Amino acid sequence: MKKLNCILFFFFALLLISCNENVVSKKDDDIAKLSLLSTLNTDMGKIRPGDWLESHPEKGQSFEDYQKTKIIRPTPEKNKIYIQPIGNFSAAEYKIVELTSAYLQDFFGLKTVIMKGIHDSVVPAQSRRYDSSHEQLHAAYLLDSILYKNIAPDATVTIALTNCDIYPQESWNYVFGLAYPSKRISVSSMFRYIDEPLDSINYSPCLDKMIKTTAHEVAHMFSLKHCIHANCVMNGSNGLHESLRRPNHVCSECTKKLYWNLDFNIEERNQKMLDFFMTQKNNDEVKYYKKEKEIFLSATQQ
Ligand SMILES: [Zn+2]
Ligand SMILES: [Zn+2]
Repeated sequence: MKKLNCILFFFFALLLISCNENVVSKKDDDIAKLSLLSTLNTDMGKIRPGDWLESHPEKGQSFEDYQKTKIIRPTPEKNKIYIQPIGNFSAAEYKIVELTSAYLQDFFGLKTVIMKGIHDSVVPAQSRRYDSSHEQLHAAYLLDSILYKNIAPDATVTIALTNCDIYPQESWNYVFGLAYPSKRISVSSMFRYIDEPLDSINYSPCLDKMIKTTAHEVAHMFSLKHCIHANCVMNGSNGLHESLRRPNHVCSECTKKLYWNLDFNIEERNQKMLDFFMTQKNNDEVKYYKKEKEIFLSATQQ
């Protein structure tokens, strides 16, 4: 009997080792495939006057740097991205919230949940100010006093989406978004992306900028720093003029970081990104993800 136990133990141990090897080699294979995406990277070009890097020289963060960092990861218990709408949204603005949620779900490969909306009237007078023509909300109040006190038990990160203009501190004019990575909370505003009242036809440019900002802020919460490797949604940006030059996708180095952390199916993610941008008629991103698809296909056939 003892001998049989021994044999069974040996058999199961062997099975566990071989399963683990399969998982490791699948991950290595995927990282190798993602490395091939470096051929799609485009150069950031020279720093222009007023650019982020002119006033904030940054060292960047390689994939190897990221692997050595103590990063924020989802766990089986905390694996959802929660979205907290804050403001008084029109139907078209709320559509932006829903489409941004759908995009983040596909971009990060994690389920998103939209929480019950909160009216901006909850923000007290001392956390508001007037910027010539309109009122602004203090981003720190939204983060610390609303979001941080309202985190769902299964949230890995939480992001507020607002149609109000936000400022991070008195000395700043405004900000598109702000993240507190250690608290796993962030906020993104669509205010500066709306030139005229949104309707079911003209919402696309606003959506495009909104998904760019929110993907950037959520990636910060998963410990990605600003990227200086190539044109990438993780490049720092000093304003709309600069963020418009950036793509929606992450460069090859940042794609590896996201995959290494979040462990999504890279082919499935590619198809979902392709579907999203085809529906939104964003030809540049469709072109990018089609090329990515070709690279994955040819790597699988080899
Ligand atoms: Zn940033
Ligand atoms: Zn990058």
